[in-house]
Amino acid sequence: MSATIDLSRAKPAARPAPVNLAGLTRPQLAAALVEGGVVTPAAARMRVGQVWGWIHKYGVTDFAAMTNIAKSARAALADRFVLERPRILERQQSVDGVIKWLIAFAPGIEAESVFIPDVGRSGALCLSSQVGCTLNCTFCHTGTQALVRNLSAAEIVAQVQIARDDLAEWTAASRERRLGNIVFMGMGEPLYNLDAVADAMDIISDNEGVAISRRRITVSTSGVAPELTALGERTGAMLAISLHATNDELRDELVPLNRRYPIAELLAAVRAYPGLSNARRVTFEYVMLKGVNDSPAEARALVRLLAGIPAKINLIPFNPWPGAPYECSDARTIEAFAAIVNRAGYASPIRTPRGRDILAACGQLRSQSEKMRASARRARHV
Ligand code: SAH
Ligand code: SF4
Repeated sequence: MSATIDLSRAKPAARPAPVNLAGLTRPQLAAALVEGGVVTPAAARMRVGQVWGWIHKYGVTDFAAMTNIAKSARAALADRFVLERPRILERQQSVDGVIKWLIAFAPGIEAESVFIPDVGRSGALCLSSQVGCTLNCTFCHTGTQALVRNLSAAEIVAQVQIARDDLAEWTAASRERRLGNIVFMGMGEPLYNLDAVADAMDIISDNEGVAISRRRITVSTSGVAPELTALGERTGAMLAISLHATNDELRDELVPLNRRYPIAELLAAVRAYPGLSNARRVTFEYVMLKGVNDSPAEARALVRLLAGIPAKINLIPFNPWPGAPYECSDARTIEAFAAIVNRAGYASPIRTPRGRDILAACGQLRSQSEKMRASARRARHV
């Protein structure tokens, strides 16, 4: 007896979208290669090491370029996987050399990243961890954006890959590299997306790849106190805290998350941050808002508040954005504030605004789709 299969009724199997290998962690890459049948579990280690190097050390986006891998294996890889970058919707370069990319990760899912040249010995890349932000700090443009979604680790890593493509970093000799530091200070609250941020850090800091040391990666948070220990233990990142006020009444207003985790609770979590020492200080960010938080009395209160914490204080002149309800403090007021903080023994650099002309400075980021929707709304109302 023979069985026949009625092929006319079988639906064509929908082929799933091929996996993009460019944003996987090492264990995920190994699992994908084994599952895809490209490599046996026994040979996975060596093959993963080779593929990893091509992706993360040399930045290739074409399997054909993986010349130490047999042609047949390259063909099998290309058949099952892709190596892709998300689309760059816009690239702007400021008069001061700052570069901003608006990236579309999926239709309507857009975020910005910013390269700031010459921060210390090399430049810094400011990464977004979310599209938009749920936290609505009153001085921050990102917080006014309605659309919010977490970025995946792959989408965070893609921001680094796009910057390295643009800066021709993959082929540059290490002493000529311009991207030496990473800061999670773009769009979003990184501690609301800790798993993806931590996986992205595993990929970016891997010695056989981009190899940016964890000590050169800073995560800035508006103060999600209960996540600080997990951040330190899981990532070893340098910590920055967006403080901006010295009393709960004002901080409740500027950083609404303070109502959930008030200053005392936040500072207790900072004191317990894993690895905190004089060699690994926490940075306190303090945005200078004219007539709001910039008095000499507040500078003295800040010093008292941080007593005993190995800290740096980073004064950020407020960066304006269309419709913002604040003004930046005067230069003399900022200097007077800095002098008080300095006298108390804290390094207190005033962060020079960079890329203001292309709305690339701290707190000015906001995605284009949102801006266009807003301008379309305005156009309808005229
Ligand atoms: N969500 C995180 C990281 C992104 S914001 C956080 O809040 O820490 C990075 C820094 O820019 C924060 O210190 C934030 O308070 C600051 N910032 C936001 N808007 C700003 C603005 N308009 N001018 C200056 N700094 C701003
Ligand atoms: Fe979000 Fe940070 Fe902006 Fe606050 S300052 S709204 S936490 S991105």
